Parts: sequence; structure tokens; C-alpha cells
Amino acid sequence: MNHALTMLLDDLVDGALARQVPTVDQALAVLASGDDDLLDVVAAAGRVRRHFFGNRVKLNLIVNMKSGLCPEDCSYCSQRRGSEADVLKYNWIDPAAAAETADRAVAGGATRICLVASGRGPSERDADRVALAVRAIKERHPGIEICTSLGLLTPDRAEQLVDAGVYAYNHNLNTSEANYGHICSTHTYADRRDTVETARDAGLSPCSGAIFGMGETDRDIVDLAFDLRRADPDSVPVNFLIPFDGTPLAGEWQLTPQRCLRILALFRFVFPASEVRIAGGRELHLRSLQPLGLHLANSIFLGDYLTTEGQAAHDDLQMIADAGFVIEGQQDHAPPAPRPELVAIRRRGPGTDVPTNA
Ligand code: SF4
Repeated sequence: MNHALTMLLDDLVDGALARQVPTVDQALAVLASGDDDLLDVVAAAGRVRRHFFGNRVKLNLIVNMKSGLCPEDCSYCSQRRGSEADVLKYNWIDPAAAAETADRAVAGGATRICLVASGRGPSERDADRVALAVRAIKERHPGIEICTSLGLLTPDRAEQLVDAGVYAYNHNLNTSEANYGHICSTHTYADRRDTVETARDAGLSPCSGAIFGMGETDRDIVDLAFDLRRADPDSVPVNFLIPFDGTPLAGEWQLTPQRCLRILALFRFVFPASEVRIAGGRELHLRSLQPLGLHLANSIFLGDYLTTEGQAAHDDLQMIADAGFVIEGQQDHAPPAPRPELVAIRRRGPGTDVPTNA
């Protein structure tokens, strides 16, 4: 590692431990660092993660309460107006179905349930429906954190959610203000920022993050990260674009695992003590480097996403244990369980009539 990078990373770590915001130049330098320096960048941001969150990983589960047929036109979204993506489309699921999904999530170690619905924003009736689901879940799991993500929020709807026992509200800024008009025409960046404020003002824990891989520049990423920091969310989901066929961003595979890790490292430096969550696109874009992402983020989604399937929950739990992390709310780390089923006696290649494994 060259001297300048060593100095940069030391400064970033010292600043983050003091909860200071990096400078724009420092942030851009993290994104511009080379693949040869990747492990040094991960190690530095990992020190910040360890300082504030130890070896804990928080697990969250998404319940898609209402899927597809949205009137908005967010170009990254498979549920958008005119989407031809072959995703599930259904109206509100009933509270019992939401509670049953929550049962499985809690058994898997999740401590937060995210109730999500497509649409511009919730009506009073929608919020009533969500309140019934919250009640059904809370009756069975009183200690669970419930987050809702229902679109643009008015103060009245926010109050309704608070009264229903909702803990947090998610509304992502998604991309920089400068880039926002390229990804959506039916609402504005300012609308989104207002909703984050409305949620906070009502007493909901603000959750707001981003999506990367939509043609943004490094400067867009830094501008967004700093804008988000000003919004001061308690949790920050970092999504990597899933370029659905049937949406305007189909075919946009712009990310590498290394790029994703640099973005996550930057977010850890900008949000040293906030929950940074690797969200949609984790498996697609981090690929076999997912465990390195755990050294940066302290939170992931367990199981499936809104309209795509995630890797098997069992594999997530195994990955967390293998990488030496422990699930938030559970006992200290135990060594990974033995896997005798992985010992496969070779029956192919030399000495057999079956082609070799290559
Ligand atoms: S408002 Fe939400 S559900 Fe609707 S298109 Fe945008 S991201 Fe998708």
C-alpha cells in the first residue's frame, strides 16, 4: 500500500471513530482506490465497524405486503408503472399471512421485520391495514422491531403508523439529487427527503439509503452519501441494482464485487455508528465476496427480497458463522457446525469413466 493511501485510511479511521464526516476528497479517494488496495480499504473500514458494532450482524426480513402495479415510474423497480418484469403481483396480504412470515423470520434470527407495499404512498385505509398486520405480529413477537416502507408519507399517516406500534420508516433517497431526474419522473428527490423528515418528526426511526449501479458517477455517490448523512438516518440500506428484464435498466450490469465493497467501505466511514445494511443485489453483485461485506456492513436481509429470491436463509446463517460473526440478539460466536455432508468421495476424473471436474 502506498504512503498516501496509508495516511488516508488512518485519517478516515480516526475521523470515523470520532464520528466526523470525511471530506469530499477523502470520500472520492476511497472510491478511486485500486483493486490491489482493496483489502487495506476493507480492513480500515472494518476497524470502524468493529469499534461500533463488534462482531454482531443484525438480520432483517422483508414482507412484501402488496406487490406490483405501482403508478410511479422508478426505473430500477420491477413493480413500476408499465413494468414487464415477470414478478408476483397481488393486493394486500392479510395480517395472518404477514404474522406467519414473521414467525419464520424470528426463528431464523431476524430482529426487524420490514413491511413494504408498492404505491406512491399509503392512504388512511392502507395504514389501517398495516396496523392490523403490526398488531398480529406484535401479539406473537412483542420485542420485534417493525419498520414500514409504504412510499411518500404525510404527517397524518406517519402518526397513524406510530399509534399502530411501528418503530421505523424506510424511504430511500436512492441516488444523488443531480441524478434523480434520470431515474424517476413521478416524484422528486425533495419529495423523498421530505418523507424522511416527516417520519423522523413523527417519532419514527428514519431508515434511508441508496441504490448503486444506475449510471451514477463517483461524485453522485459521494453527494448522496453526504446528503444522507445530513438526514441522519438510524439505518442505511445499500442496494445494488438488480437489472430486471422488462424495466428501463435491464442489462445494466455496471458493478463489480470490488466496486461494491468500496461503496460499502465509504458508507461505513460516512456512517460509522449507524446501521449499514447490505440490501438488494447482495448475492448478484458481491458474489463470493459477500463475507467481506460483513466486515463493513453490520446488517443484512435474511431470505428473499421484494420481488426476487435471496440465497437460502441457511446459507446466510452459515456464511455469518463461517466469517466469525454472531447474529444480533443471540449467543456469542460458536465455531461453525461440522459439515460431514460436504465430504464427497470422488467418483469422476482419473480412474473412472466420468469426465473430470474442470
Ligand atoms: S414508488 Fe416504490 S414500488 Fe413504486 S415504482 Fe417506485 S420504488 Fe417501485
